[in-house]
Amino acid sequence: MVYLDNAATTRISDAVLQNMLPYLRIGYGNPGSVHTLGRQSFEAVETARQRVAFLLEVPAQNIIFTASATEANNMVLRCTRERLRERPDIVVSAGEHDSILRTAFDVERREKGHVFKVPLMESGRIDTLALMDIVERHRDSIGLVSIMRANNETGAVNPVENIFPKLQSLGILTHSDCVQAAGTEPLEHISHVCDFITLSAHKIHGPKGVGALYVKDKEALVPLITGGSVQEYGLRGGTENVAGIVGFGKACELASKNLAENVQNINMKSGKFFSVLTEQLARMGLIDILHFNGESQNSKTYSIRFDGIPAETLLMMLDANEIYVSAGSACTAHDTGLSHVLSAMGLSPEEIRSSIRISFSTMNTMDEMLFAACGLATCVQRIHKSL
Ligand code: PLP
Repeated sequence: MVYLDNAATTRISDAVLQNMLPYLRIGYGNPGSVHTLGRQSFEAVETARQRVAFLLEVPAQNIIFTASATEANNMVLRCTRERLRERPDIVVSAGEHDSILRTAFDVERREKGHVFKVPLMESGRIDTLALMDIVERHRDSIGLVSIMRANNETGAVNPVENIFPKLQSLGILTHSDCVQAAGTEPLEHISHVCDFITLSAHKIHGPKGVGALYVKDKEALVPLITGGSVQEYGLRGGTENVAGIVGFGKACELASKNLAENVQNINMKSGKFFSVLTEQLARMGLIDILHFNGESQNSKTYSIRFDGIPAETLLMMLDANEIYVSAGSACTAHDTGLSHVLSAMGLSPEEIRSSIRISFSTMNTMDEMLFAACGLATCVQRIHKSL
């Protein structure tokens, strides 16, 4: 089996699992309990908070644990309304994850204020000039801008570090969904220009069901889930998922410690994959049908298409060969069935229907790269012949 769907989720690392197990077996105290078992859990959560904070180089007390990045994104859009009372408009990019896009439009339906969508360029990055134009025209009513760092379908990277300082100087709150950027680049230059940052454990070899929100000023938020007044600084009720949070902390520690090495490792794997793939396609006389959608800059995620080859057929054939890739975001279920990201980049429906996403991790081996690239080229050739 070759797993090349690491933008959807990653395999949990052994070290992460080992760190979690004691908190599922014997360290089961509630972090809110005052006895020793409870205090041990509390301390484990606080250590994890420091590790997550270290990844962003922010103070630990500004990290709020959630049950997912989806929840963290919801908090930013739904729970800042009080702060945005005077400036209720929100700006998001057309390439955002559904947990931002759908939530923003839900907020628009329920509350006052408009949502402005920033278009994408062919590269997959946001159109910065269009964003600045929107901000210029509505500078008195825009209260929040949410732009993801790395796109989950194309790997395109948005230059938020250049854009956000200007927005902050206008009194606009800035949020970046860094779920796909974590573990692929240093993030401190991003956190310094953000009021909010979203992270997810399962994209960096941590467990599923744990996310985090960096909140620069906790006064800007009210809880999405009310409950325990001391849990997560009163901003997220519910007994903490101690083992999951511990795993998240360890995953962040590993991601920070081995960052340069990991990036080099993934680059080597993706480099090998694409060199074998192009070699094979050239040998088959099919090199001209391969296209890259946009420009991946985050090493991990690539969107490619083969002219005339339906992605659905290709994915099924790859699946039968135990090569796991995807057609796009794992949680996209739009009515049209077409990726909103590729659509915003100007791809035609036909081009989108022949696009697949390939995403790598350090856990992939060089042998897998050879096997998967040859397998992919062979599947493309077989489908091409049958057309
Ligand atoms: N944001 C981005 C960019 C993502 O890729 C994902 C997951 O695919 C999410 C948010 C949601 O993450 P979670 O699964 O933790 O809710």
